[in-house]
Amino acid sequence: MKFSGKNVLITGSSRGIGAQIAKTLAGYGLKVWINYRSSAKEADEVKEQIEKNGGQAAVIGFDVTDEKAFAQAIATVVECDGELSYLVNNAGITRDKLAIRMSLEDFEDIIRANLSSAFIGCKEALKVMSKKRFGSVVNVSSIVAESGNAGQVNYSASKGGMISMTKSFALEGAARGVRFNAVTPGFIATDMTDSLKDQIKEAYIAKIPLKRFGSTQEVAEAVAFLLSDGAGYITGETLKVNGGMYM
Ligand code: NAP
Repeated sequence: MKFSGKNVLITGSSRGIGAQIAKTLAGYGLKVWINYRSSAKEADEVKEQIEKNGGQAAVIGFDVTDEKAFAQAIATVVECDGELSYLVNNAGITRDKLAIRMSLEDFEDIIRANLSSAFIGCKEALKVMSKKRFGSVVNVSSIVAESGNAGQVNYSASKGGMISMTKSFALEGAARGVRFNAVTPGFIATDMTDSLKDQIKEAYIAKIPLKRFGSTQEVAEAVAFLLSDGAGYITGETLKVNGGMYM
């Protein structure tokens, strides 16, 4: 895959999908900035692994819901490398409950953690990328944005918002040479899905045409493609990575 840019910031890349995106993009020759909120040790391990394989990486801890800290982190990247070429808004959390038991706080916290954080990232990235007339952003949404899911009114709303926000950012970024796209992973084997009971996992697998959970590598390759020069004429798009579970 060809990349005209040189570096990428991936939020929530100490574990799971984000960590794999970091390793994959480093393998394609980009300098990766690994972000975490509390898993500093895991973030350092991702960096060490990348460097052992001959890649370039730096660790930058901040909470994506903190607007000032996120903006400062992007400023630090630009100060160090002269630009921010790519951003992946990957950090996300769940707080599942049936709607009738979900407090407004449960709802708003998830919107802030998943959607407002991506807004901050897209906005700050657009500012710095506009100056270079180059950049690409991928937002990691979810299959439940498209299908809905019982017990995830808050999460599905946050992820659905990411898809429509991506389209609006794509319209604002186009004239400035900045592309915005989203991926919607289905069920991917990470800590997030590890917590599901075996019975629930089996029920989901029965509904997946490819009859398995996806791997973090399969999501990472889709993200890499959307960031790459090969996707130069793709913006405002949502790429499903779900084993055919929702078409
Ligand atoms: P995960 O294993 O739980 O990892 C989440 C990552 O996000 C961690 O690195 C965590 O860092 C970071 N994070 C969470 N809140 C943060 C904050 N406020 N500031 C900075 N970092 C924060 O999750 P995952 O399964 O890899 O999921 C990654 C993304 O894919 C999420 O947006 C998720 O919604 C989406 N997704 C996942 C699946 C799936 O099946 N796994 C399916 C569809 C979509 P710390 O450890 O430091 O807190």
